[in-house]
Amino acid sequence: MFTLIKSLFTKPSSIKSEPDYFDQYLIEGVMSSKFIKDNSRNFVLEALRSKNYLTDGDVLSAKEKKDLKINPRLKITKEQESVLTLEALNKGSKRVLQALVTEASHRNSRRKSFEKLISLNMKPMLLACNDNRDCEWCLSQDKKVLDSSLDIDEYIQLNCTCELYCRCGIISARSSNK
Ligand SMILES: [Zn+2]
Ligand SMILES: [Zn+2]
Repeated sequence: MFTLIKSLFTKPSSIKSEPDYFDQYLIEGVMSSKFIKDNSRNFVLEALRSKNYLTDGDVLSAKEKKDLKINPRLKITKEQESVLTLEALNKGSKRVLQALVTEASHRNSRRKSFEKLISLNMKPMLLACNDNRDCEWCLSQDKKVLDSSLDIDEYIQLNCTCELYCRCGIISARSSNK
């Protein structure tokens, strides 16, 4: 009986936990975002870790939005206004906050796909979305076969100028041949 209970709580040794960079990338994104006021970065980080986009509570009145020169049709909570820059409020506060989480999750899965392919001796290839939200650089990288020694995340962070984050993915170069 004891053995049975023990086995229920012990992970089989064959299951190795994969590396996860989500929190590291969320921290990087929040700490460097031009959309978050400097003194609010830690607060926003904690909120985003629990997928809280600060959408509850009092909202800005029409007059308050007019005074701040914000599009009056946007719904903005006082909490969002207290932590986000004017540019973020005008882009859509929830949209900007959600994008930080999506970006971290996307960077995480892209890097894991890249590392997985390398570990399988397969060639990783970058795949752009090929729509009008891709920046020039991303479009120029579409279907590019990448060197296995590349730091895929750094490569994208240094070059991509997409509006909110890079949506490019990684696939195996061979699987793209049609
Ligand atoms: Zn881009
Ligand atoms: Zn991209």
